[in-house]
Amino acid sequence: MTSELTVNDHVPIQLRTEALEDLLVERGLIDRAVMDNFIKTYEQDVGPLNGAKVVAKAWTDPEYRERLLDNGTTAVAELGFKGPQGEHIVVVQNSADVHNVVVCTLCSCYPWPLLGLPPAWYKDPAYRSRVVKEPRQVLSEMGLDVPESKEIKVWDSSSEVRFFVLPERPAGTDGLSEEELVPLITRDAMVGVAVVGSP
Ligand code: FE
Repeated sequence: MTSELTVNDHVPIQLRTEALEDLLVERGLIDRAVMDNFIKTYEQDVGPLNGAKVVAKAWTDPEYRERLLDNGTTAVAELGFKGPQGEHIVVVQNSADVHNVVVCTLCSCYPWPLLGLPPAWYKDPAYRSRVVKEPRQVLSEMGLDVPESKEIKVWDSSSEVRFFVLPERPAGTDGLSEEELVPLITRDAMVGVAVVGSP
């Protein structure tokens, strides 16, 4: 028994995942074609552009911004963004005093309808454990130096609630329209490991 466990521990995660998938298919619990289609949709059709549209609208429409902060789920649904992992979205707003960053300490919960599938680093055990304990240090290693004067808040997404960061609108963008703002807004800024730079 012990030796079996030891052997399994050394089987690469990809092989273990494939074995599990085979078993689920064999038992008729999942359909491979449906799974492939599902993954393709979230890889190719749903991505951070959705989230960027939400942010640009919030930056240019104060009433929408209020609705978004009040109830993220219904406000993003106004733009047509809903679906799996988007059932309960809470939007946290960056400001001059607060920088927000999102993690899922347990696994990889992430607002799929707004950002697509999570990047590898988001699922990395090192990010998940360290960003909670030493957020300033981790953000710095990822290229974001948050001023000491700013408080950093870490939000732990789960199957109950998925957090989404509303970044600060950068300087020098006053004259830009909602459509012109969209390309400036990056995935990393909406997770809180980056900020939106001036154009
Ligand atoms: Fe998770």
